[in-house]
Amino acid sequence: MTPQFDAIIVGAGFGGMGAAIALRELGYERLSILDREDDLGGTWHVNHYPGLAVDIASVTYSYSFAPNPHWSRLFAPGAELKKYAEHIADTYDLRRSMRFGVSVQRADWDDREHHWTVTTDAGETLTGRFLVTATGFLSQPHTPDFPGIDTFAGTIIHTTRWDDAHDFTGERAAIIGTGATAVQLIPEIAARATALTVFQRTPIWVVPKIDFAIPPVVQRLFARVPRTQRAARSVNNAILEGIMVVGVLHFRQAKIVNKIAAAAARAHLRVSVRKRATRKALTPHYDFGCKRPTFSNKYFRTFNRPNTRLQTSSIERFESDAVITADGTRTPIDTLVLATGFNLWDTNFPALQIIGREGRDLGAWWREHRFQAYEGITIPRFPNLLSLNSPYSYSGLSYFTTIESQMAHMRRLLGELSRRGAATFEVTDDANSAFLDDVTEKLGDSVFYGGQCSTSRSYYFNQHGEAALLRPTSTSNSLHAASTFPVSDYQFS
Ligand code: NAP
Repeated sequence: MTPQFDAIIVGAGFGGMGAAIALRELGYERLSILDREDDLGGTWHVNHYPGLAVDIASVTYSYSFAPNPHWSRLFAPGAELKKYAEHIADTYDLRRSMRFGVSVQRADWDDREHHWTVTTDAGETLTGRFLVTATGFLSQPHTPDFPGIDTFAGTIIHTTRWDDAHDFTGERAAIIGTGATAVQLIPEIAARATALTVFQRTPIWVVPKIDFAIPPVVQRLFARVPRTQRAARSVNNAILEGIMVVGVLHFRQAKIVNKIAAAAARAHLRVSVRKRATRKALTPHYDFGCKRPTFSNKYFRTFNRPNTRLQTSSIERFESDAVITADGTRTPIDTLVLATGFNLWDTNFPALQIIGREGRDLGAWWREHRFQAYEGITIPRFPNLLSLNSPYSYSGLSYFTTIESQMAHMRRLLGELSRRGAATFEVTDDANSAFLDDVTEKLGDSVFYGGQCSTSRSYYFNQHGEAALLRPTSTSNSLHAASTFPVSDYQFS
């Protein structure tokens, strides 16, 4: 039976679009790109809270093969990323393959017909020769179940479901969380609300943000002489690579780099926040790099505002109009903002049920046998599956370096498949185990194992305490491996 599609791609963000571009180049035209949201762009469609911007310079945070000369700032606002995603979909004619409002529930490998059967929430089934999951790392919002929250009569907004029409003017607002999202949002709410209480459980390392508008003359130069933008990208890539390889992956050998970064963040805090007690409460007690640090020139200063209060006592319960903390404080509020992040390790990895050969359930297998994926993309017993958001797949600091490595892996793997005239590929157990052993050993030098991370509550760590997200190599190594891995690491049939 011929499957309906060459490939079913779950997710219409930058990962799914990159996979679609690679598949089209390889001659696979019958694609179905499914997304549960009502438009494309993934993270950059879902997130539109005030203050949203990239935290990787925009010359790097884009596909290398599709540079955008028109970024307005060094760190572009979120809305420009959404526009860039639309531009990519139009340029590569991807929209005709996309369907929105389609939530994929499960995918089953059919070992007789050699295809995947995908089932949606609405009960529809689709068949595809290949299955590509591009569901993102930070895509399952985390909403803590605080006692009494159901009785809270005010407004609750999670940052991933931002209500653009909500007006904080005259309101008593509260925000739970002090991650990268909250750091961008807190100054914006403080500027609008009458009162803002920030509920912090774990402080975050924040360094100053060197950001500026890119003058039109430079944008014109980038457009007319693309080599100049490529040069800017190379310089920024080299800086990011240095930070990643030295500061994160070789922490044991180069602790000084982390110490300097922490000192810079402490100095930034000292000059920004007037009250000593507030400074102390905002100072992290874990090593720089254990969880994703962030940049801001506004975040710390917001705590000098008379309308902004930092609350570090833990949340005990909610009442209809207030939050009660363990120290007995009752904070009356009108609107509660949940900047409580995402659940990676329970409800993601994978984001849908995937059943491979021999009835292997990917989610259950990962939880029982360690999170693992060969080169962060394929898994034994899952033929013709490309799982883009896999353990140890995240390469470098910009998501685009991950995507482009995975596109290279797809080109080599699927190129070999068609050269052999084979129907299926499946990574061998040996290759998968060797990769897992290799990354496990390499991570031993990283800040995650060499640093003091126990109090960081970082989403880089899974429920077993393993830092199973980042690939512990340079991005150039990752790209090289993606284009040169031994094809004998796969069985083709
Ligand atoms: P996050 O880093 O996971 O932060 C979630 C926050 O909510 C943390 O402060 C966490 O405290 C708090 N929290 C969660 N459950 C809680 C509970 N039960 N009680 C009290 N506090 C609770 O999520 P995020 O800020 O959304 O950022 C996630 C990632 O998205 C970032 O690391 C970054 O990679 C990405 N991001 C990027 C950008 C950008 O590029 N510009 C912007 C925003 C986000 P604990 O730390 O104590 O758990």
